[in-house]
Amino acid sequence: MARINEHFLKLQAGYLFPEIARRVSAFCEANPEADVIRLGIGDVTEPLPPAIVKAMHDAVDEMANRESFHGYGPEQGYAFLRDAIVENDYQSRGVEVSADEIFVSDGSKCDTGNILDIFGQDNRVAITDPVYPVYVDTNVMAGRTGNADDNGRYEGLAYIPVTAENDFVPAIPDEKVDLIYLCYPNNPTGTVASKETLQQWVDYAKQNDAIIFYDAAYVAFITEENVPHSIYEIDGAKSVAIEFRSFSKNAGFTGTRCAFTVVPKDLKGKTVNGEEKFIHALWNRRHSTKFNGASYVVQKGAAAAYSEDGKKQIGDLVSFYLENARLLREGLEEAGITVFGGVNAPYVWLKTPDESTSWEFFDQLLKKAHLVGTPGSGFGASGEGYFRLSAFNSREKIEAAVERFVKSLG
Ligand SMILES: *Cc1c(COP(=O)(O)O)cnc(C)c1O
Repeated sequence: MARINEHFLKLQAGYLFPEIARRVSAFCEANPEADVIRLGIGDVTEPLPPAIVKAMHDAVDEMANRESFHGYGPEQGYAFLRDAIVENDYQSRGVEVSADEIFVSDGSKCDTGNILDIFGQDNRVAITDPVYPVYVDTNVMAGRTGNADDNGRYEGLAYIPVTAENDFVPAIPDEKVDLIYLCYPNNPTGTVASKETLQQWVDYAKQNDAIIFYDAAYVAFITEENVPHSIYEIDGAKSVAIEFRSFSKNAGFTGTRCAFTVVPKDLKGKTVNGEEKFIHALWNRRHSTKFNGASYVVQKGAAAAYSEDGKKQIGDLVSFYLENARLLREGLEEAGITVFGGVNAPYVWLKTPDESTSWEFFDQLLKKAHLVGTPGSGFGASGEGYFRLSAFNSREKIEAAVERFVKSLG
């Protein structure tokens, strides 16, 4: 019989979102009249901006004619999109990134998982805690961990707690790690990293020959001045960091699928024998061997995100979600809840009242307010005692959610 990859068996069975779905459907079965509002999964709710829809319609029409039809495109992505990315996301902020350092894909979830293909097994991996579960699970699958303990922490990973106690600033490790995941603005905490914090990490990576995986999926939600938008705004980052970006949360592409990864040409890793090799060449090889490019229609849509109309419409979309986040944050604060995030991110991260655990609070909120959020402990052991609410919803539902949340406390 064929052998399986047994590392998959180490994955925690009661994974977060299926467990939430199980509890919600049990509740709905028992209470069919309850109108449940879901502020759980981080998926957008508003339709695609019109400029993007138009560009995609036009691209479909091109595909319908022999003269303008497109077959396989360049694996790295079309130049029209990569050039637009360079100009709008990087040059506009004084950051030098060239088009051939950009790899267009169908999502950052895949990119952050796939990047592990090009790194050796014996790298020590550092992960902030709580964290986007994909970083952890893909390392488990790749066999870079042992088993999980009772708190869900895997043997072999270096966990870096980020909690209210340390103002959500990830401390530089006092051991040597090789691969470091950072995500800012952060999912799930909604907090940001200052330039000084990121500079410390870049300096650490330089001194320790480590590589930073920087996930900037929520960059569009930054509202405050002096918050870095790209890791490459930090001195020296181009020789130590890979950046992941996605059109999912700003342009509403969660169902349309388009993202990109920046792999600087300066970035190096080494072989067992200590020989230095360029990461860009490895990733190029990996990407073009296992991926045949994002669809032409979707890349046309993504490029329209950078048109004048596209930028304006995306700006409105992001402002809409940020206003939801503000309503959540301020409504809960008024009711005496300690709240983090929600200023530069579409997530509000709250301290559960009365020292209840994340899951106790989940059950209580579902029962009393018919509201679904995400238990903080599902994002890691240090998320225990916290709870995430997402601002991705209609205004009406957000307002109702705040009202019900506050009422349920009394
Ligand atoms: C939503 C999200 C992404 C985007 O993933 P896609 O696969 O591009 O939709 C990436 N990182 C984090 C932390 C996210 O929350």
